[in-house]
Amino acid sequence: MFQFVISVLYFTIIGLFAVCIFTLTKWGGRLHAYLFFYCVANLVYNCGYILVMHSDNKNTYVTALKLGYLGRVWVGLSMFLFIAELCGVYFPVWVKTTAAIINMVIYFFILNLENTHLYYKTMEFVMDGDFPTLPHSGGPLYYMFTMINLLYSIMCLYIIFRAYIREKNETAKKRNLVMSIALTLMGASYVIYFFKIIPLARKFDVMIIAYAICTAFMLLAIIKYRMLDATAAAKNYVVDEMSEGIIVFDAQDRLSYYNKPAQKLFPELEDPDKKDDKVRELLDDFDSAIKSGEPVRLDGKVFTPRVNPLTEEGTSIGTLYSLSDDSEHYRHMDELREQKRIADDANEAKSQFLTNMSHEIRTPINAVLGLNEMISRECGKVKELDEGLSPAVSEALGNIGVYSGNIENAGNNLLSIVNDILDISKIEAGKMELVNAPYSLSSLLNEVNGLIAFKVAEKGLEFVMDADETLPDELYGDKVRVRQIMINILTNAVKYTDKGTVWLTVKGRSGGFVKEGGILNLSIMVRDTGIGIRREDMDRLFGTFERLELERNSTIEGTGLGLAITRQLLTMMGGNITVDSEYGEGSTFMITIPQKVVSTEPVGDVRAGGRNAGSSKQPYRVSFTSPASLILVVDDTKVNLLVAKALLRDTKIRIDTAGSGKQAIDLTKKNHYDLILMDQRMPNMDGTEALNNIRNQEEGLNVETPVICMTADAVIGAKERYIAEGFDDYLSKPIDSNELEQTLLKYLPKEKISDNDK
Ligand code: ADP
Repeated sequence: MFQFVISVLYFTIIGLFAVCIFTLTKWGGRLHAYLFFYCVANLVYNCGYILVMHSDNKNTYVTALKLGYLGRVWVGLSMFLFIAELCGVYFPVWVKTTAAIINMVIYFFILNLENTHLYYKTMEFVMDGDFPTLPHSGGPLYYMFTMINLLYSIMCLYIIFRAYIREKNETAKKRNLVMSIALTLMGASYVIYFFKIIPLARKFDVMIIAYAICTAFMLLAIIKYRMLDATAAAKNYVVDEMSEGIIVFDAQDRLSYYNKPAQKLFPELEDPDKKDDKVRELLDDFDSAIKSGEPVRLDGKVFTPRVNPLTEEGTSIGTLYSLSDDSEHYRHMDELREQKRIADDANEAKSQFLTNMSHEIRTPINAVLGLNEMISRECGKVKELDEGLSPAVSEALGNIGVYSGNIENAGNNLLSIVNDILDISKIEAGKMELVNAPYSLSSLLNEVNGLIAFKVAEKGLEFVMDADETLPDELYGDKVRVRQIMINILTNAVKYTDKGTVWLTVKGRSGGFVKEGGILNLSIMVRDTGIGIRREDMDRLFGTFERLELERNSTIEGTGLGLAITRQLLTMMGGNITVDSEYGEGSTFMITIPQKVVSTEPVGDVRAGGRNAGSSKQPYRVSFTSPASLILVVDDTKVNLLVAKALLRDTKIRIDTAGSGKQAIDLTKKNHYDLILMDQRMPNMDGTEALNNIRNQEEGLNVETPVICMTADAVIGAKERYIAEGFDDYLSKPIDSNELEQTLLKYLPKEKISDNDK
């Protein structure tokens, strides 16, 4: 029997040693620490007990016992902590600390076993056959210690049973069962030990058998049911279940790990013959993909590659590449790109259509307005004759003059609608560009005044213009667009006001003294005593094609584009517009436009009224004559040739016409012209091609002749483009007769001009 107990002790020591080794090799957190603690405590106890078994007197027995207790006091607590950790039951630190302090106190009294009598009240050494024994009567600490250990066993059993019932994973369930059996045995052995139920319990500490069995079960749980692998298994599980493929290379670029998704993507990694080549290829592919920022496409899927250098204490130990499956994301991106392309194409087609349409509409308007101009001129001439006209003829001529005026108005309205449509389509296509240059604020205000004062007078309204005299005159910005904004707002004020006044107030805010190169916030306020705007309509005011109170305003012409264009232009310029209105009382539009100051010279006194104010259209007067000049007009539309010729008839300039680029070239080879007016859009050979041909003729008669581009292409920037193409100047259709004469006056040889009244 004695030998059996000794063998059990040795077996337990070997078993515990094995558990220690397993624990160390799979080290990873508190679970392993508690188990290790348990094993070491148990090892010390078992070693001490071997010495106890070999003692032959009281002294050696007690000394060996004290050594064994050094481990034994911790066995119950460490097992409890381990089981609690295994089952995910956590205790606060103070509980653990208190339990440890109690153990230490008890051990202190065990060390002083002979003196204090608190652990063993009495004890004597007796040899019971081969077994050295120490029959004793327990002191209070002895009972307390036994109770505490019994309590640990009961709590462990409770925790592990509860975990067993709740556990879903089959392997973990079996593992918990094995551990519960071990703990039941341990608990039972405490009872046997305490009450000395079996006679053997008097000969030696039966707990050692319980510990041996417990150790055996623990080994079973560790090896068969992978008790200590939980964390590693969990990590592997997570890494294998994620959608990202992960490949790890060591510092020498040798493959050291890949997870299941990576294995699926690159099955060659499993093949020893192909593995090395594949590894090299992958490294190259990953690096170039990461550098170029391009995704990696594999098996019809799209992956985003990422690289993470792995370092330990500052030294590189390898590289981790991850490939995340972003196919869905890229599919969405492709779809969005495709949709954007379709939308862009549609927008481009729309813009192109509107540009073409505007061009096509301008061509007939050119004829209408040009010929209307001729009617008006002829009418004026006949009226001037006056004598000899019968009253009926006089009245008819008067009517013709009125009708012609109406045609001109309608034609100009049509023209401004076409311009608005063209502008809004440019803005929506993001193609609107500002053409910034220095300009004079006073001349801009005079132009606006000239245009508006006439409209105001026609409606019998009063126009008050108040411009701060100290405003700097020379500013830098897009004059054409600033004028367009002012005209839009002022035209609306006139359109939507039946009686009363329209005020235009121009001020400046510069955030201090105005200085050259500084920014002036040009503040323009237009106020009217018109119909006003209802509060609920304010939101729609700046919408495209939005017109308010359609029924009430049905007789007022408009497209609902003016304010939309105004706001977009202001946004482009970094300015803004606000409105304040009292329905039935009038409206106030406030605009701010930041403009650079070129020179601080003040604008001076600019007032309402002026040249055109209140006067209707003046009868036509030719500005110069030049019978000595010969010019060539080129246009594929016959009526345009007719209009050009008619408009210039009073200048007495001699005019040749050509219906195509080719015909123009033939004529330029025969005659020298003082000037050429060239249409741009012509079939077969456009204006630019014809121009280049004329300029490149060897010893050509017209190499130096000024060529003016004449086109219905009224897009902003068109002038600059045509001049860049080689034309000397640009005239937009419909041709304004005054502008036409001024341009010719500028380019025709001075010596051939007679009767210049300008
Ligand atoms: P429209 O060509 O119709 O004038 P706008 O975009 O310039 O287009 O103006 C949009 C609408 O805002 C107009 O139809 C009109 O109902 C309203 N509106 C604009 N200015 C005024 C104003 N000064 N007084 C009253 N209503 C105005």
